[in-house]
Amino acid sequence: MVKRVGVLGLQGAITEHINQLKQLGAEGIAVKTPTDLAQVQALIIPGGESTAISRLIQQIGFYEPIQQFAKNHPVFGTCAGLILCGSSITDGGEKLKPLKLIDIAVTRNGFGRQVDSFETPLDIDSIGQQIPAVFIRAPYIDHVGEGVKILAKIDNRIVMAEHGSVLVSSFHPELTEDNRIMAYFLKKIKEENS
Ligand code: GLN
Repeated sequence: MVKRVGVLGLQGAITEHINQLKQLGAEGIAVKTPTDLAQVQALIIPGGESTAISRLIQQIGFYEPIQQFAKNHPVFGTCAGLILCGSSITDGGEKLKPLKLIDIAVTRNGFGRQVDSFETPLDIDSIGQQIPAVFIRAPYIDHVGEGVKILAKIDNRIVMAEHGSVLVSSFHPELTEDNRIMAYFLKKIKEENS
């Protein structure tokens, strides 16, 4: 069965995710209302502007439906999506209401103050070596709570982590030709639900 993955379609990098899902034989669906969540087996919260996405999540009444969805479906937050999935946010994070799907403390524009955007290869345990990662005014994770697995770091900054079926990355895997990270996320969808 084709796996159906929702991409939260309020603001940000939506089509890039849908295209990468297609390359992997999955179907990507823009999720624009809470009822759309019933159509999908997993959800990607994309990059964009976290304060804008947070405002729309609250306006559209998505906050609790996403939290409920995450209890038994995989969720992947990239860049602004990572910020939104986090538990506490500094550096402008007061303006948004994080979904608290994973126990991570996030510095919102962590890399942004030094350099706006850059690309670097990452070696990620259990996914692969030399995976290109694009960072755009990216956040990083200051520290993780119990049970959260750190998957990648740049110097001492955590840039990818997971806890059960919640995966987060500071960078944009959908903006490269390398789809190993998306393939890893798709494996979190249980075959029996597809
Ligand atoms: N710094 C942005 C924010 O706070 C995130 C940037 C991105 O998603 N590329 O929302």
